[in-house]
Amino acid sequence: MARTTRGIVAAVALAILVNSARAGDLAVGFGSADVTPDIKAREVFLAGFGHNRKATEIHSRLHVRAVVLRDGDRKIAIASVDVVGLFLPFVERVRARLTGFHYVLVGATHNHHGPDTMGLWGTHPFKSGVDPEYMKHLEDQIVAAVQAADAGAKPTEAAVGTVKIPELLHDSRDPQIKHDELVALAFRKPGGDGLAGIVVQWNCHPETLDSKNPRLSSDYVGSTCDALKAKYNCPVVYLTGTVGGLMTSMHVDVKDTNGQRLPEGGVAKTERFGVLVAEAAGRAVDAAVPARLTPFDVRKTSLLLPVDNAMYRLAKQAGVFDRAMEPWAGDAYAAPKSLEKLEGRPGVRTEVGRVRLGEVELAVIPGEIYPELVVGGVPDPAPTGADFPDAPLEPAIYASMKSKYRMIVGLGNDELGYILPKRQWDEKAPYTFGRTKPPYGEVNSLGPDTAPILCEAFRRLGEEKK
Ligand SMILES: [Zn+2]
Repeated sequence: MARTTRGIVAAVALAILVNSARAGDLAVGFGSADVTPDIKAREVFLAGFGHNRKATEIHSRLHVRAVVLRDGDRKIAIASVDVVGLFLPFVERVRARLTGFHYVLVGATHNHHGPDTMGLWGTHPFKSGVDPEYMKHLEDQIVAAVQAADAGAKPTEAAVGTVKIPELLHDSRDPQIKHDELVALAFRKPGGDGLAGIVVQWNCHPETLDSKNPRLSSDYVGSTCDALKAKYNCPVVYLTGTVGGLMTSMHVDVKDTNGQRLPEGGVAKTERFGVLVAEAAGRAVDAAVPARLTPFDVRKTSLLLPVDNAMYRLAKQAGVFDRAMEPWAGDAYAAPKSLEKLEGRPGVRTEVGRVRLGEVELAVIPGEIYPELVVGGVPDPAPTGADFPDAPLEPAIYASMKSKYRMIVGLGNDELGYILPKRQWDEKAPYTFGRTKPPYGEVNSLGPDTAPILCEAFRRLGEEKK
């Protein structure tokens, strides 16, 4: 008995030694930049809802928030922008300007009250709302934020905390499966009290201000970051995770501090919702336990996905979608090839990644993935009325992640729209779950084969290296 206890004590002591030796390897830096477009000088089309929604005033400013993690001379940059989505070719332009990084991840919060950065929200369906000058400015600001984060990187120790907050999510599409876990990474200041910075990852559409809102805003995300910044006196990076299927702040009952229910779509609800998310993140930070975030292991793969969505093809033809398409010949791993003429079944090139930061693993998914595909819960057997009831179940993203902590960045390095389980694909009558109309989601998805290809590619990335 005594020997066993001594053995345990020795093992714990050794673990502490190993951990503290390791902890010294990690350095972290934070940077941010303002990316609010000038709505007085230029017409700004707000993205995320209907067409021709012009910004008339500013509710809150937009930012890019970046963190750089270093393990010796290996550097990883993660930047997140208060916009609706960024395409891979744009991310590649940012990457080309950030030399010396092992990996650069650029994501979007999926903000529904920022400028059109994808082309889908101009005056009408076949007119892009993208302002190329703004995109250039955005590129410059992302690069500047990452460089500032890198320049300020200092030795740190990390801690991880999680909290479940299903009450802050509404699931607008059956089955009722929520990805309700918020994850916070807290980085300690070198040798002193207080935090050097916080990374928060949560799974919700920033669309609280709703479809008729004419104000430019970061939606609740700005309020969340401001509240955390005020409480911990440190920079905050907010990452959007699983938002498909559809994880939203709309229809979530939000009350003010007096218990009064705040009206849907208003500024008051939006700001209060942001504070509630910050309070939850604060609980995660306060309960965070030390975690090892080194060594880094970055795995990513270039992937071709078929584009079956007729609207997307028309948008490409009209020049609204400013990104290349390739011929699709049934091979997701095919070498890049140029498409002479838009006909048949085209494909679009994207990237999927899994990033191991010591005990934390990050899934990097290029779009709005359904929670069932992340945490599991795709109906088996398929719901009655499904278009592909016999489609195999996709391997769930979190099922193959064996590290101690898991995080997900949706809209990571790309935004391909909804990624939904093939068995839940439902364009043809009869409809699933007793609906009389088709459910929302398919219209903003590449097609029914997106999830099977993408989830399998993600699973393969996790296989042991030979
Ligand atoms: Zn969305």
